[in-house]
Amino acid sequence: MKLDPNLMKYSLSLLVLICFHFSISDLGAQNPKSVSGIDADLAFAHVKKLVSFGPRPPGSPGIAQAQSYIISHLKKLNLQVEQQDFLATTPNGSVAMKNIVARATGEKNQAVILASHYDTKLMQNFYFVGANDGGSSAGLLIELARVISQQKRTFPVWFVFFDGEEAQRDWTETDSLYGSRYFVEKLKRDSVTRRVKAMILLDMVGDKELVLERDLSSTPWLLDLVIKSAHELGYGKHIATLPKAMTDDHIPFVRDGIPAVDLIDYSYGFDNLYWHSSNDTLDKVSPESLKITGEIVLKTLDKLGAK
Ligand SMILES: [Zn+2]
Repeated sequence: MKLDPNLMKYSLSLLVLICFHFSISDLGAQNPKSVSGIDADLAFAHVKKLVSFGPRPPGSPGIAQAQSYIISHLKKLNLQVEQQDFLATTPNGSVAMKNIVARATGEKNQAVILASHYDTKLMQNFYFVGANDGGSSAGLLIELARVISQQKRTFPVWFVFFDGEEAQRDWTETDSLYGSRYFVEKLKRDSVTRRVKAMILLDMVGDKELVLERDLSSTPWLLDLVIKSAHELGYGKHIATLPKAMTDDHIPFVRDGIPAVDLIDYSYGFDNLYWHSSNDTLDKVSPESLKITGEIVLKTLDKLGAK
């Protein structure tokens, strides 16, 4: 993912409004304790396992192990698992990629998508395992699939693991977001775009000092729902005060008219220095942060169900 500088210029004018919203919604904060069913240790164990496969760029031996691991866990939950295999045209030539989609059923027609990328950025000069960037959100998504598949919800939930979020070289419109762009194109081809009610993206959610961005590229009402959920859980301090504009796997959805929100902590270490560095290792990932993010997601799903 990357920051979008063009959108940032709107930040200051929005700040006054957002601060106002922040203080109002804090007044409504309820009991900080919640019984969500998210197991922080299980989520962390998934991250640890994914990291143990080493670097996981598209087409690598590491990502093949990650794919088997994710698919076997989803199948154990008795979820229907679809593997979307495609060839991406990249600056490094054709690269085989795979999105993994699992579906929990519900009575209503429209589904909510929970998503994460599971690839790690291809690095030529150092060993990059992406514990937070690629690992944390994919591990949490497996745990969310476990919890949600045991719940009764009125709407279907699709768990989508994107390949190829990262650029093969330097981030451009065409060298990035391969999996999510393919996924949204396929929705269109299959004429099922309108079957998606909303998309919630998780990315870099394991930092010990968890601060999720107020992303200016996300759909405003859906971001509001996430922020409201965080405050109701007593997690207001885990939402950033200043907005940022993120370019991430939610963008193809937003562009196609699907409400989408990015839950991302883009301040990883001082000045985001751990991001895309050899310092993005398991010791920086906190089970508690995974749990907090998971609970915010579940609360947001409750609110989406009531809408
Ligand atoms: Zn990244």
